[in-house]
Amino acid sequence: MELVEVREGLAKILVPKAERIYDAPVFYNPVMALNRDISVLAVGVLKPGTVLDALSATGIRGIRYALETPAKEVWLNDISGEAFNLILENVRLNLGIDGERIGENRVSFEGEKRIVANLDDANRLMAEKFRYFDFLDLDPFGSPVEFLDTALRSVRRRGVLALTATDTGVLCGAYRNACRRKYLAEPIRGELCHEAGLRILIGTVVRYAAKYDLGIDVLLAYYRDHYFRAFLRLKSGTRKADESLSNLGYLWQDESGKFTYEQAFLPERPKAYGPLWLGPLKEQGFVDDMLSLAGTHSLAHKKTLPFLETISGELDVPFHYDTHALARRNNLQVGKLADIIETLRGKGYSATRTHFSPTAMKTDAPFEEVLKALRSL
Ligand code: SAM
Repeated sequence: MELVEVREGLAKILVPKAERIYDAPVFYNPVMALNRDISVLAVGVLKPGTVLDALSATGIRGIRYALETPAKEVWLNDISGEAFNLILENVRLNLGIDGERIGENRVSFEGEKRIVANLDDANRLMAEKFRYFDFLDLDPFGSPVEFLDTALRSVRRRGVLALTATDTGVLCGAYRNACRRKYLAEPIRGELCHEAGLRILIGTVVRYAAKYDLGIDVLLAYYRDHYFRAFLRLKSGTRKADESLSNLGYLWQDESGKFTYEQAFLPERPKAYGPLWLGPLKEQGFVDDMLSLAGTHSLAHKKTLPFLETISGELDVPFHYDTHALARRNNLQVGKLADIIETLRGKGYSATRTHFSPTAMKTDAPFEEVLKALRSL
């Protein structure tokens, strides 16, 4: 495999030379630098002792956690032998020390921090390391569901599970049957599909966690490019699990774009989308701590900071109005988003932009007021 060195954050990483990223024998996607920046900031705020990068590929993510956060022990795992060998090379390159073989498929690097490189199926490693990790990262190709059960058992009981899902076509309703199979949920198409997809993903984790008497708090969840990402704090106990389940519910939308949602274990009306998470998508304090840290941290992606700022300023209510979709659905002219937001604020409502779409806003104004604001411009 021909390698080239790239720099991301504080890490130097050897990655395979390839025309297209999916042709490479070991996967590296520079676009995901923003995902990794945000994750580094999250780990920086959380200060976990033990971290697992369960699906590590080149090792970039775990190596950045080791170099750029206070984490004390970082495990980098992959099922591919080529990935494992590259992880070993990349850890040596960044730490400047040799590792010691501590098992047939396991090498430990003992420096200021402990880094363990591991070659195995992530499910087998997570089953072995029961309630061991303070922060566990699942960054798979496609859906994380096949790793969820073991991940929930491998995270400590007040630990944090971070997950990426790149199967946006499934969660956004392009492959409805696949969404039913993987997430046991009905996806919605149209302008709400990304937010609903993210909420279906979180709702799925809530349902998986409940059987272990675990609830979750969402520290931060977002949609970007071609993926969803969520940082979820586990909370132990039947009451916490019940509380999280009570945040599940269903969504309805009519032809005009008007949506309604309802917290309920079962839908009370037909044509419901879900079940999905209707609780918050962020803890404001957590996001603001990440933003403060971002001020002193050298980030790899130029969009990380503005993206986090948008999320920080965003009104955290379920679902949003896409002004272009609303105008199309109701035969209206599209006004400027900033003016529509100002009109609603002038009437005493809260309204903000949202990271879900540059043409959309979140507001606590009723649908009829939103349409009036569109008509008035
Ligand atoms: N986290 C990496 C990053 O930030 O660059 C990218 C990971 S890549 C999307 C997914 C990786 O999961 C691949 O390297 C693949 O070999 C690995 N993988 C797939 N199935 C696995 C399994 N069951 N156990 C462990 N690794 C697996």
